Amino acid sequence: MNASPAERPLPVVDADSARFWAALRDRKLTVQRCGTCGRHVFYPRALCPNCHAELVDWVECSGRGTVYSYTVARRPAGPAFAADAPYVVALVDLDEGVRMLTNVVSTPLENVRIGARVVVRFTDVAEGITLPLFELAPDPLPTDSSAREGTA
Ligand SMILES: [Zn+2]
Repeated sequence: MNASPAERPLPVVDADSARFWAALRDRKLTVQRCGTCGRHVFYPRALCPNCHAELVDWVECSGRGTVYSYTVARRPAGPAFAADAPYVVALVDLDEGVRMLTNVVSTPLENVRIGARVVVRFTDVAEGITLPLFELAPDPLPTDSSAREGTA
């Protein structure tokens, strides 16, 4: 086997997502917010999935959220991720109300729980590409009672 590490697949930056990726390079997590119905929207797109208005507004998020679900990948998704395994793949609900597929990093795997509070960790993976990964927040208890049930 070749000793050089496999190249990590990188996000495709397109017209809809360019501002999202540019903000991440500046250490800001942003999502679109519909100027008509007021909902936050993620992933980046041209039209609001709720009311079909054109999406033009971008807002900075708090960078905080809650683990909706997760799995531990013990076999890597490909050679590029072999050095990372085992790792946590998670769905994180941002406090702004959108759900994001990401990784929870920098914590023992067994500490990750559904309902755990997380905070964004900006991670540079290539020239010009920064990913919004997450780590457990210092205050891991969620603030609303419905999410707290998931931590038991
Ligand atoms: Zn809308």
